[in-house]
Parts: sequence; structure tokens; C-alpha cells
Amino acid sequence: MYDVIVVGARAAGSPTAMLFARAGYRVLLLDRIRHPRDTLSTLYIHQPGVAHLKRWGVLDAVAATGCPPLDHARHQVKDVVLEGCSWPADGVTAAYAPRRYLLDRILTDEAVASGAEFREQSTVDELVFEEGRVAGVRYRSGRQQFEERARLVVGADGMRSKVAELAGARTELEDPMLTCAYYSFWSGIDTGFEVYESTRRWAGFVPTNDGLTLVGTYFPMADYDRVRADARTAYLENISAISPVLADRMAGATQEDRLFGTGDQRNFFRRAAGPGWALVGDAGHHKDSLTGKGITDAFRQATALVESVGDGLRDGPGLDKSLRRYGERRDDLVMDGYRDTLAAAELRPGRRLPLMRAIVDDAQMTARFFSTISGVLPSNELMTPELRERVGA
Ligand SMILES: Cc1cc2nc3c(=O)[nH]c(=O)nc-3n(C[C@H](O)[C@H](O)[C@H](O)COP(=O)(O)OP(=O)(O)OC[C@H]3O[C@@H](n4cnc5c(N)ncnc54)[C@H](O)[C@@H]3O)c2cc1C
Repeated sequence: MYDVIVVGARAAGSPTAMLFARAGYRVLLLDRIRHPRDTLSTLYIHQPGVAHLKRWGVLDAVAATGCPPLDHARHQVKDVVLEGCSWPADGVTAAYAPRRYLLDRILTDEAVASGAEFREQSTVDELVFEEGRVAGVRYRSGRQQFEERARLVVGADGMRSKVAELAGARTELEDPMLTCAYYSFWSGIDTGFEVYESTRRWAGFVPTNDGLTLVGTYFPMADYDRVRADARTAYLENISAISPVLADRMAGATQEDRLFGTGDQRNFFRRAAGPGWALVGDAGHHKDSLTGKGITDAFRQATALVESVGDGLRDGPGLDKSLRRYGERRDDLVMDGYRDTLAAAELRPGRRLPLMRAIVDDAQMTARFFSTISGVLPSNELMTPELRERVGA
């Protein structure tokens, strides 16, 4: 009998297992994969996410993989360029973009070092129910079937969550899909973190491990059939159409990996918890990846769940109340970022141009702008009365 079973050992599940184990609980962490293994991601972790890594004592390990600190951003919308950085989050000034096969492994290793038991290549197929509550899981590993019991089962098993499906977690809010994304890894590009936006197009340079740069592009979802018919051509065309300068900079670079892409980026909130179960990360809430908030939000949800449960797994009746509290906290934590993401994923950056023109020569306002992107400053606090006057809003 475990206190907690966590299904899924990546950005959401491993920190959840780590934090529950550090709180003194007996934790089982399951994943159908075997680490290290890559996953779709443009890798960017905003300063508040990096601050979690620091708090958990794993930032040094992430930095030691060789991915550079990203403490300067260049953001271009049409002809307007803002350069600067977000305010720090808990003293952390840089974002990072580690390869996921490195990051996710570090997080899982830390969960194990904190006392969680990890079983990889273990696929959960069923939940065990007892008196109307989730009371455990049944899973397969090789040809063997296992059953384990726990007071709390946490689904950290991604956007297509089996735990959410089996627990009957209702979808409480859903919006249409907005973009499709393609990216690859390149050597020979001398760049920091750079973002380029124009109508119906987005491109970004994200420096990562091994001196490589992730070059990503986004298209409107309406173009998905056309784009995937010849993704490589569409990817390269999108980059040169945004800025011929970008195309020139890539002309001497070498593509070091295949093209990765997806047209399945759903936007939803599922109910976050119920009797004996909770969802963290993409399992409970998913949004377009354009704003790169999924990893940071997974870390925040893991923290919120473990803090909300507190001693609740030791004293019986408190648990359901704690789980309800987690659900409310989860929605408060991620709703602003969800709205900002849907707005950005419409790929109509022209709306922001008057604001960007008004702050282009103002380093303090530019830092405020980057702080809303990182999530250090709520986006509804960007507009000061003085800025409103400048923009004429
Ligand atoms: C194209 C793209 C680009 C992105 N770029 C960024 C970015 O730049 N920055 C950012 O912060 N976020 C980004 N994201 C989002 C980010 O990758 C996710 O939000 C984050 O990985 C979610 O982590 P998770 O742990 O919730 O889920 P996942 O990463 O999906 O992990 C779920 C785990 O559960 C396991 N699992 C699933 N089912 C079972 C089962 N039945 N039994 C056992 N194990 C199971 C899986 O094997 C997997 O390891 C991007 C996403 C995409 C698609």
C-alpha cells in the first residue's frame, strides 16, 4: 500500500513524486517509457519554471548539461524589435532550454533520490475503485500484470491521459485548436533567444545543448493540411517569409536532426481532482505550445498539489477537501497564461504593435513586457496609466 501513485514521469509527474516523497510519503512513480527519451517540445523554460528547478536543488544539474542560460531575449513583431529580459523570478534571471531527454531524466532521478520508487516500462490500463473512490492502479510491465493500491492516484500522463479518462474527469472548458508547430535542431547559427512574429506566422531561435539551436515555426491550424503535405518546404518558407534576414542566417547552418511537428495541440481544462485522484500537467490542462508555458505550469501544478494535500494523506477526512482546494488553486495558477496563450496563438501580433512601438526605446517598459511573457508579471498589469496614455488606449 502506497500513499501516492503517480502515473507519468516527466515534467509534471517526476516533481510531484519528488515533492510527495520529500514530504515523507511512500510514493510509487510509473511510466510506460524508459528514460532517457525525447518528447515533442521547443524546450523553453521561463524564469518562474527555472526558479522551481533552483528551489528543488536541480538547477545546477540542468545547467551542467551545457544548455546556455538565456538572459537576453529579442522579440520582433513585423518591423519593431524589443530587446531585453524578464525581471527575475525568486532571484533567477535566466531562462533555460534543456533537451527533454536530459531534463526529464534529471527530474526522475531526483524523485528517486528523494525516496520515490520508480518503475519504468509500466503501462497503467485500469484504475482500482473502492466505495466510489479511486484506490489504486492496474498496470502492465512486459507480460506481467500488477495491481498497486494508494490513497491518492495522480495522473501526470499527458494530454491524452488514461487516468483522466478512467477517473471520468470532465472537460470543463475547451477552445478550438489554433496552431500547428514544426521545429528542428541546427548547428552553425550564432544566436540568443529570438522570436519573430508577423500575421499568421511565428518563428523562434532557441539555443539548447551541444551548441545546437532549435529553430521552430508555427502556422495557423487552418493551414495544417497544406503544411503537412510538404512540411519541410513549408517550414523553410515560413522562416524566410517572416524575415529574409533569418533565411540568410540559416543559409550557412546545418540541420542536424529530422523535422518534428504536431497538429494536435488542444486547449482545455479537465476537472483537476476527485475522490482519490488528481491530475497535474498536461493531463488536466493543455494549451497551445506557442508561449512555451507547459513545463513551467507543470512545475507549478506539482507544487500546488503537494502543498494543498499537506498532511491530508495522514488524516483521513481531510483529503477530499485538500483535493478540492488544489482544483481551485490549479485554475487560478494557469488561467491567465491560458488566456494569453490563446490570444498569442491567433497569430495576429499586429494588435500589439502600437504597444511595442510605444516602449521600444524604454528599457524599463521593455523589461515589464518580457516579464509578462515569462509570467513574472501578470499581463493585465503591463499597462501602467502612463503607458496607456502613450499608446492612446
Ligand atoms: C511542439 C511542442 C512544443 C512545446 N514547447 C514547449 C516549450 O518550449 N516550453 C514549455 O514549457 N512547454 C512546451 N511544450 C509543452 C510541454 O512539453 C508539456 O506541457 C509538458 O511536457 C507536459 O508534461 P507532462 O509531464 O504533463 O506530460 P508529458 O510530457 O506528456 O508526460 C506524460 C508521461 O506519461 C507517460 N504515460 C502516458 N500514459 C501512460 C500510462 N497509461 N501509463 C504509464 N505512463 C503513461 C508518458 O510515457 C509520458 O512520459 C511543448 C509542447 C509541444 C507539443
